[in-house]
Amino acid sequence: MNDFSDCRIIYETKGLCPVCCQWVDAQAIENCGKVFLRKTCPEHGQSDLLICGDASSFRQLREAYLITHNEIFPQSRYLLYLTPVCNMSCPICFLSRQKDQKQDITLEELNKTLSTPKRELILFGAEPTCREDLPQIIEFLKRRQFSVSLYTNGLNLSDLEYAKVIKAANVDKIYFQFDSFNDEVYEKLRQKKLLDIKNKALNNLKLLDIPVVLDITVVNDLNDHEVGKIFDFACRQNHISALNFIAYVRSGGGSEFLNDNVLMPDDIIKRIGDYTQGRINRDKIKVYQKLLYIYMSILKRRTCFYIQYFWVYRRDEGEYLTLDEIIDFGKLDNVLDGYLRLAPKTGKMFAIAYLVFKSPVLLFALKQRRICFEMFRMAFAHSFNKAEYAKKSSKFLQLIFTTACDPYKSDINIAKRCHVGMIYKNDQGELKIDDENGMYLLQEEINSKIMSGKI
Ligand SMILES: [Zn+2]
Repeated sequence: MNDFSDCRIIYETKGLCPVCCQWVDAQAIENCGKVFLRKTCPEHGQSDLLICGDASSFRQLREAYLITHNEIFPQSRYLLYLTPVCNMSCPICFLSRQKDQKQDITLEELNKTLSTPKRELILFGAEPTCREDLPQIIEFLKRRQFSVSLYTNGLNLSDLEYAKVIKAANVDKIYFQFDSFNDEVYEKLRQKKLLDIKNKALNNLKLLDIPVVLDITVVNDLNDHEVGKIFDFACRQNHISALNFIAYVRSGGGSEFLNDNVLMPDDIIKRIGDYTQGRINRDKIKVYQKLLYIYMSILKRRTCFYIQYFWVYRRDEGEYLTLDEIIDFGKLDNVLDGYLRLAPKTGKMFAIAYLVFKSPVLLFALKQRRICFEMFRMAFAHSFNKAEYAKKSSKFLQLIFTTACDPYKSDINIAKRCHVGMIYKNDQGELKIDDENGMYLLQEEINSKIMSGKI
């Protein structure tokens, strides 16, 4: 147990009580250099969750986030819940309640509802490749100028002919669930040995040069020690554009499984820090987060406070350069702090002018000019929604340390600023567009508990 005799409150918020799922008072508390989220339910008492191992980083990032994301920007990225059908039945699935509840979304419904292009649509579901008309849906959405990604367990992509059809439909990116190089892990998380079929599917995607984001569900004492090995693997595969390390979430139907195996993104950062002997670490990620918060707020786009990012640039033979080996982070951090000091006093426009004024300093911060030029091209493509550019295999590999909202880590101020929305059919068969997937997941958890008679 942690001794909280010497703690202090960083901020107050609201969160769900993990037992009764009522909104209750919550606080982020600093104790012995760590940060805990404490919920106080009048009926079920206190629950504490460790959310960050370094209170000083946490406070700085929280401050930078509040300055840049004080207003809630419009949502531009949505999960599209195409079907409740799945070819797997993973015990950890947080969407298991929907399987008998919801129906497919039809092309006609999409035609009626999606009139204005969204920046990114991620085709989602239990398993979207279970829909026979998936290629037609992708083509239809691409014609309407959406950026279209597919979130899949990848099993159907082990068939090369099918993977070719998906490529021909012009999909932009594939989010591919890949948890481990060890079949015991798949047996535990997914109830099946899946390594062979996953490898086959990944090979097909490599052959077809389709950009892939590996989505790794990381569970403490199960596959957390593989974080480094997966990173090494991705350093040698240019078609893998990102690694998304998702800290396991206790939510929906999977809520009672593996209760002691919960990690926060911060813990996964620690694992990769140990593996890379500090070449990637929390302090460097902190600087990049500040840059990202500022950049996204200038574009008026959302980013989630619980999710952290970093980049490496792949060289030959699995070698790589970290972002701070490409740009001088000391110089960069000074300029970012200047922006964050100015913005609350003078407003965003003046702070942007300050960045322009400081651009010579930033220019001198660039250590690897050629790589930086490539980076600016990518940022340009991102700013102007040029999906075509992002589609190319790139030497850049993005690292994402993420988690989703569950009752334990729920914080209303974070869930309300969720970086992704949800388009789905409700229990009455009506098509709904929810701008905050975080709030949607929490509501699903409440529904799931009511259904199973737990509350
Ligand atoms: Zn309660």
